[in-house]
Amino acid sequence: MERIVAKFGGSSVADGRQLAKVRAIVEADQRRQIVVVSAPGKRQPDDAKITDLLYLCHDMAALGTDISHPFRLIRDRFAAIIGELGLGSGLLDEIDRFGDLLRRGCHRDHAASRGEYFAARLVAEFLGARFVDPAESLTIAPDGTIDPESYQVLGRQLADRQGRYVLAGFYGRDREGRVKTFSRGGSDISGAIAARAAGATLYENWTDTPGILMADPRVVASPQPIAEISFREIREMAYMGASVFHDEAILPVREAGIPIRIKNTNQPEEPGTLITPALSAATIASTEIAGIAGREGFSMICLEKTLMNREVGYVHRLLGIFSEQGISVEHCPSSIDSVSVVVDNSALGERGESILEQIRRRLNPDSLRITRDLALVAVVGEGMVETVGIAGKIFSALGRAGVNIRIINQGASEINVIVGVAAADYQRAVRALYAAFTGR
Ligand code: ASP
Repeated sequence: MERIVAKFGGSSVADGRQLAKVRAIVEADQRRQIVVVSAPGKRQPDDAKITDLLYLCHDMAALGTDISHPFRLIRDRFAAIIGELGLGSGLLDEIDRFGDLLRRGCHRDHAASRGEYFAARLVAEFLGARFVDPAESLTIAPDGTIDPESYQVLGRQLADRQGRYVLAGFYGRDREGRVKTFSRGGSDISGAIAARAAGATLYENWTDTPGILMADPRVVASPQPIAEISFREIREMAYMGASVFHDEAILPVREAGIPIRIKNTNQPEEPGTLITPALSAATIASTEIAGIAGREGFSMICLEKTLMNREVGYVHRLLGIFSEQGISVEHCPSSIDSVSVVVDNSALGERGESILEQIRRRLNPDSLRITRDLALVAVVGEGMVETVGIAGKIFSALGRAGVNIRIINQGASEINVIVGVAAADYQRAVRALYAAFTGR
């Protein structure tokens, strides 16, 4: 039988009511045999996430402070869920013993991982499924990537195709065998690894949003969800700031060609977003773009030098200054006598002035300036290569909205058009583009 991995995020396992929805979803499709869970998240906006509380307890204990208050919040949350679901209370004794360990002091990753560990234990009991501890199979290398043999080891743990499993998300072990977590939000990665290890035909990622949205909902009111998006497009969207799905979670499933479907636990009947290796012909025919993403926080260093185009190696030396400093360059638009370098402010840090100084000294430009407070906006879509007029639509929409375009960049892959605008124009630019492509 085909198998589906269904990963449920923090808000889907936040309380008994949400977990009842999880059970209904899992039981509605026989193929949903591998369930991966996050730690309980927020029940309402001002609520605490269990993982945050665990980090807090760990750090307070390390300072010798009393952790009774935050630990009680953790214990109470699990006690409430156990009560709501009518599960046995054995797990609570274990949680209390873990509290003692926290007070005595334990490894930070171990502390953080227990949210997923206890959540998976209780969801396994609730679903009548087998609990799988990833600390027995997933080896995470020092750089955060997964050791490839982990797929076989986890695959063996999930071998029974008739059985249902619940795997704890977010952690595995390091090469010495200690618990090690992924970066925050890392249960998405665990789900992707499980999908590949189990040879699943689909990786479902259940969240509390209707799917991947065409634009940032903090900028555009109620943006439409994207019905289908390719792995290449989602990379571009994530890189440019769109969140929902952890970008490191793409790789394991992408390499194995397993599609991902983002679904809403609160509206399981809605189709959500399908992330596929290749877009269907219908999607290509019916959509101009996948979405609009962007971020603020870039700087652009612009230099001019007459006859620059004749000086062999000029741009190479310019980029060398950035690489010597370990600063990665995002874009490098150029013309005959001028070149600009766009960098992320977080990478540039306080080094702007010293970089300018070095450029002056080593490259002797006619003029040199730095523009801070830039935003980049990307219009993403594979269909662009085939469609005439996308760029025209972008520029006329921005022109009508009175947005001054500082940078234009179209990658050779023609999967996106990136424009740089002043940070003050960022939101206006995104809204104007969204309206131009959706008519809303
Ligand atoms: N619980 C972890 C976090 O809050 C991992 C996850 O939810 O994916 O970051």
